[in-house]
Amino acid sequence: MIPIVMIPTVPPSADFPVSADASGHAEAPRAPRAVALVSGGLDSTLAVRMMQEQGVQVEGLHFYTGFCITEQQRRSGNPKAANRPNDGLRAGVELDIPVEIVDISREYLEIVTHPKHGYGANVNPCIDCRAMMLRKAGEIMRERGADFVITGEVLGQRPMSQNRKAMDVIEDEAGLSGRLLRPLSARNLPMTEAERGHLVDRDQLKGMSGRTRKPQIALAQELGVDAYAQPAGGCCFLTDENFARKFRDLFAHDPDLHLDHEQIMLLTVGRHFRLKGGMKVVVGRNAGENLMVQGLVERSVIPGAQLMVVEDRKGPTTVVAGGSNAALDAADARDNMADLTVAAALTARYSDAPEGSEVAVRLWNPACQPQADGRVFNITVVRDGFDDLRV
Ligand code: SF4
Repeated sequence: MIPIVMIPTVPPSADFPVSADASGHAEAPRAPRAVALVSGGLDSTLAVRMMQEQGVQVEGLHFYTGFCITEQQRRSGNPKAANRPNDGLRAGVELDIPVEIVDISREYLEIVTHPKHGYGANVNPCIDCRAMMLRKAGEIMRERGADFVITGEVLGQRPMSQNRKAMDVIEDEAGLSGRLLRPLSARNLPMTEAERGHLVDRDQLKGMSGRTRKPQIALAQELGVDAYAQPAGGCCFLTDENFARKFRDLFAHDPDLHLDHEQIMLLTVGRHFRLKGGMKVVVGRNAGENLMVQGLVERSVIPGAQLMVVEDRKGPTTVVAGGSNAALDAADARDNMADLTVAAALTARYSDAPEGSEVAVRLWNPACQPQADGRVFNITVVRDGFDDLRV
């Protein structure tokens, strides 16, 4: 019978991890090392600071999912975000630790569209999301020879992913059982290997729980932490009710849609309308969004999409998608034309042309024709009557 040898992942009784040189001689004990999830919010910042107080060397990871509000604002030229640094990198500077940005945006699409553990209040797949991030963090921990992973999670703070059952599921699915330390709530949670092995002192960890932020704010004062971003969920489109409505509408009209980041980008900009014949209309709200939606259509990333603008007036660039250019039977052709006429009216409505004036709205498909060859709709500008079409 082959003997089974249990090899502890952390030395059970050493105060510090010990490594060996090539000849097998033990080298001087090194400081414990942890990999931290760093959003840049208060909780993850405090978790890192608490570990630093205990002499742990920390490396930060900041995950990019493709659904970060600030990042998208930056891309659409929003002046509020233009000069704002990445929250994770800024926190790294404040904490004096290296922070690496880990791009999981490609594999993330699968969990956003098919989350094993479902959605929270909107389209936020928080349990799958945390499990994915922590699985990745665990791989990086092993690659780099670190001892454990830390997060700023607080028991009971967020309904979906920070209740005890969800936290256990996440730890288990991430393959981090016993090696995931949550310093802010550790004393409410089972002892981890890092505590058992005396890499960290459990007595100095916290037992926070619940939604109040007061203990974190008090701890921040105690540890001299004063620069941090808003709590993590505030940075994620998936928790946003408006985004969730548009996301659900997209799949309700095209259940087989293969979602990509260009389509997500379109969900985050403009005013969205669903017309009676099924056409989707997105009206840019400012020059940055106009340029962005035009670029998306010109690169043909939205199948069959066309553009509309009001001629000789300042106004939006509008995307119309989901109509048909194919040969249609008479009824479908009527619906298609009715939708295009409403799309033109919406484009005129958000232009600077006065109510009641006549404008020409040009529709063209940049993939196959110059703007000047597009069809013209002559529209009388009306401001009211579109609310029930809003997504
Ligand atoms: S709020 Fe967004 S980023 Fe945070 S855990 Fe949920 S899905 Fe992930």
